[in-house]
Amino acid sequence: MVRATSTGGWGMAVLEADYLVIGTGASGMAFVDSLISDAEAEVVMVDRRDRPGGHWNEDYPFVRLHQPSALYGVASCGLGDDRIDETGPNAGFYERATAAEVCDYYGRVLDEHLLPSGQVRHLGMHDFLGGDGEGYHVRSLLTGERTTVQVRRRLVDATYLESSIPALRPPPFAVDPDARVASPNDLVRLTEPR
Ligand SMILES: Cc1cc2nc3c(=O)[nH]c(=O)nc-3n(C[C@H](O)[C@H](O)[C@H](O)COP(=O)(O)OP(=O)(O)OC[C@H]3O[C@@H](n4cnc5c(N)ncnc54)[C@H](O)[C@@H]3O)c2cc1C
Repeated sequence: MVRATSTGGWGMAVLEADYLVIGTGASGMAFVDSLISDAEAEVVMVDRRDRPGGHWNEDYPFVRLHQPSALYGVASCGLGDDRIDETGPNAGFYERATAAEVCDYYGRVLDEHLLPSGQVRHLGMHDFLGGDGEGYHVRSLLTGERTTVQVRRRLVDATYLESSIPALRPPPFAVDPDARVASPNDLVRLTEPR
């Protein structure tokens, strides 16, 4: 069990763990899943998003994996049913999960495997701030409360492949006031033709 060792000054919580993993996207989830399968390690996972799955939580809703579902995800638990689609544009090929299915899958990996192991603590909606001599610091995006994590072994940065989602920021180009622009995320919400 990841230990809360003390409550530091200013009401700040202090946790102690073997690993602090930044990011609960595909990379962080696969790492922690394999780690706890092979070791008794205690892990704290931190992410700005409330649920695991990383960028899949905000992708355009009609996106699917580019590859068969069975080739994606964590080692301990398969994604999908490993079946061949019989209808639709993917007929004849192995199923490819939608973004919603990928997010549901990572949610279940967290809720039904990582957390019940007692080795993992998940700090969703927390920003990783960096470290100093006292440990590494994270801040709740809900309350502003800071938590210090003292790491016995490694800080694992699972954010190297983090994608930037165009729909979450203004377009990086000028838009004529008369032009109507929709990002891929907005296409399914159109109420009239563009
Ligand atoms: C639309 C799309 C489709 C794709 N399709 C495929 C595919 O079919 N097959 C494939 O193999 N790959 C695909 N990819 C590539 C994709 O990048 C990887 O599959 C994988 O999802 C990347 O996971 P990740 O954990 O590395 O990054 P992310 O999913 O981006 O997760 C990183 C996480 O780190 C968190 N984070 C970052 N900084 C901080 C901080 N300071 N504090 C707290 N949290 C932080 C972020 O909130 C985020 O949740 C696709 C990518 C996109 C964008």
